[in-house]
Amino acid sequence: MDSVFIPSLSQAQEALKLGEGPWKGPIFLTNKATIIHRLQQFYEAFDGRAYISYAMKANYNPVILRILKEAGVNGVDTGSLFEIKMAKHVGYKEDQIVFTGNNSSMEDLIAVHGEGVLLNIGSISELEKFGQMFPGEKLSIRINPGIGQGECEGIVTAGVVSKFGIHGMHLEHAREIIHKYRLNIVGLHCHIGSGFYESEIFAQAVQVLLNIAKSFSTIEFVDFGGGYGVRYWSDQKPIHLPDFYRKMKPMVEEFQKLMKRDIQIRFQPGKFLVAESTVLLLRITSIKKEFDTVFVGTNGGFNTFIRPAFYGTSHHIINLTKQNDSVRVVSKVVGNICESGDVFHENIALENPQEGDILACLTAGAYGASMSSLYNLRPYAGEVLFNETGMHCMRSVLSFEEMLKNLGFTD
Ligand SMILES: *Cc1c(COP(=O)(O)O)cnc(C)c1O
Repeated sequence: MDSVFIPSLSQAQEALKLGEGPWKGPIFLTNKATIIHRLQQFYEAFDGRAYISYAMKANYNPVILRILKEAGVNGVDTGSLFEIKMAKHVGYKEDQIVFTGNNSSMEDLIAVHGEGVLLNIGSISELEKFGQMFPGEKLSIRINPGIGQGECEGIVTAGVVSKFGIHGMHLEHAREIIHKYRLNIVGLHCHIGSGFYESEIFAQAVQVLLNIAKSFSTIEFVDFGGGYGVRYWSDQKPIHLPDFYRKMKPMVEEFQKLMKRDIQIRFQPGKFLVAESTVLLLRITSIKKEFDTVFVGTNGGFNTFIRPAFYGTSHHIINLTKQNDSVRVVSKVVGNICESGDVFHENIALENPQEGDILACLTAGAYGASMSSLYNLRPYAGEVLFNETGMHCMRSVLSFEEMLKNLGFTD
């Protein structure tokens, strides 16, 4: 359970039978035990002192939300009205849900406020709008600590200039608005990016946030966001969370002493809790060689799993059918979408790939299904859960008729 989930061939075959649907599409297969283990690891790393909000945009399948809830996660962090509704549908209470939007419209702010959840606001403009409409209300503030990091540029969410958070230079303005509308600031937050492995920069952001937090006498919590890195390759070194805690502990203790009370320390891991629990199972549909390139074509595409094509991330792919084969073929693993950018891996040494083989693309549990689309009008991939009692379908493949009825076309 410490490792990245890799199913056996027979597990993969059983899961495919349950989830692939009539056209034998790709599926996501999730191991429940890995999710529970990651949650425990997180709590243990922070000495049981962490309050964990799961960033549900990483994977909002209600079955997974329920697993985390039953395993004792404190709450969820949401980014849209429907994520809030989904969290409630699964049984999370209002006070367990935080909304961290950005560039929210007036309508967003009204609707989210109407749901009774705490808003975490990250711009002067939204703060002003919220204050006008809801004077005296509770609120959390997202700060841009001026420091960011992540596994690629698209998912760095703070820094010298960033679309996210209120920068130090605008803090005085923020305070005026807070004062004008008597807003009750209960929390301060930062989220510097997604996919970091070293505690150094994170610790700097912690220090910046705590320095700012000192001047907010009403706060009940400080929230350091998510971004804790995962292993995309089975042999990659895992992130060492206790190291993060060791670095921040003295700062937090000094802060608590100064504030003369026990202020809650919160985190919002998304990918850390779910990414390594899940593989994307693909079937090889064709193989073609052109000069030095071997194209291994599969039954999935970037509509199913967009991370490699969109972010350029490299996920380990294993040929489950030929796992012990010593033949290796350097392959370009591609999908079935009509675009040359439809790539799962640019060059990976695959175990003797042949048509019909089942491939497992590892660590696909975060920003996989949740970022999938209906491009090419292919249905979403099936999703299967492996738990104590075996394999269970947790998302079935839609038929054309179901899609036609539910996509909102007015024809
Ligand atoms: C996306 C997001 C997270 C989770 O990031 P991970 O890299 O998945 O851990 C946490 N907090 C906020 C505000 C986010 O937008």
